[in-house]
Amino acid sequence: MNILVINAGSSSLKYQLFNMDNESVTAKGVCERIGMDGSVLTHKPTGAEPVVYNEPMPTHVNAIQLVFKALTAEKGGVIKSMSEINAVGHRVLHGGEKFSESVLVTPEVEAAIEENIPLGPLHNPANLMGIRACKEIMPGVPQVAVFDTAFHQTMPPKAFIYALPYDYYTKHHVRRYGFHGTSHRFVSARAAQILGRENDPNFRIVTCHLGNGSSFAAVKGGKCMDTSMGITPLEGIPMGTRSGDIDPAILEYVMDKEKLDIKEMTNILNKKSGMLGISGISSDFRDLETAANEGNERAQLALDIFTYDGGKLIASYIAALGGVDAIVFTAGVGENDGVTRARMCENLGFMGIKIDAEKNKQRGKELDITGEGGTVKVLVIPTNEELMIARDTQEIVNR
Ligand code: ADP
Repeated sequence: MNILVINAGSSSLKYQLFNMDNESVTAKGVCERIGMDGSVLTHKPTGAEPVVYNEPMPTHVNAIQLVFKALTAEKGGVIKSMSEINAVGHRVLHGGEKFSESVLVTPEVEAAIEENIPLGPLHNPANLMGIRACKEIMPGVPQVAVFDTAFHQTMPPKAFIYALPYDYYTKHHVRRYGFHGTSHRFVSARAAQILGRENDPNFRIVTCHLGNGSSFAAVKGGKCMDTSMGITPLEGIPMGTRSGDIDPAILEYVMDKEKLDIKEMTNILNKKSGMLGISGISSDFRDLETAANEGNERAQLALDIFTYDGGKLIASYIAALGGVDAIVFTAGVGENDGVTRARMCENLGFMGIKIDAEKNKQRGKELDITGEGGTVKVLVIPTNEELMIARDTQEIVNR
């Protein structure tokens, strides 16, 4: 079975074609600058040279048409015709409270994704455009929606209700939803598999997705019990450019001092804060580590805050779970940056969390980095949200 996985953004569209007989990627690529001048598709067939298409893509329908052209072209093509694609899996950001698992796209599902646009104003409209473009071009081929929020729907109310007037929840759906759910689900399931605890309802993990955006999840018996991102991805520890948790009263104070309106303030919290805001130089952890090694104190401070807050969050989730069996690191920073992994755990030794310095020097692959005397397994597991989407899609169309 061939499954096309699509992650549609407002001006970009990423895709991967999976052969589910062996879960291999036969081609992947990205359309950029959709709806703008200079749109380009970069298509990468596995094991062959990339092919670049500099062609206009005024809409997502044009983008998907061009993806199909690339997938079937003589040069760089991997299938003979579109009929070889059996199903399409779409990443959708916000499922609100409607979706606790992946679903076959029906008119009702489309309507629900549309209803959730106020909760995911940047992503949900683009995700919907991707779904509608595929429906138009390949009618009859099943489409599946996989939500970033779905895995976190098992959280109990004490973990997802904010201490605001309760009406805001009932009237306006203000609650913690959490994001990166497909990643937390993928790595927590893989950890259970690696450690032989797949069907153990008491297996407790803290998953740490550390990338440009970072989030943590407390997972028990495969179910999410708590997570650090909130109604939007702004909550949690400071990230590349996002502030994470701050005293909400700062908004009024700074808006008054700097003469900002709420849109400008929110933009600063999302795009100009976090590692970039503290260091003043970059949101990229590699740049920050280079600068810190050269004596840049604010770069070092940014990294210190990240690992300090991350360590505190891991400990709080261990308390929430009443103990822990495994800590899992994933995503760009979590998979590659041993210094950050070690520093985030450096004060957690008293809870049985020890990291082996030598093993922790490796990166970018599945690793057990548990140190001597550690009673908690510490694992590095590369995430693969696209594969998770392809697996869900296959499972749903085979039902
Ligand atoms: P996104 O949230 O955009 O998917 P990623 O998960 O790709 O982000 O993570 C991007 C981050 O990973 C960047 O900040 C980058 O600095 C960091 N990163 C990638 N490789 C390394 C590395 N070798 N050492 C430290 N950080 C790394």
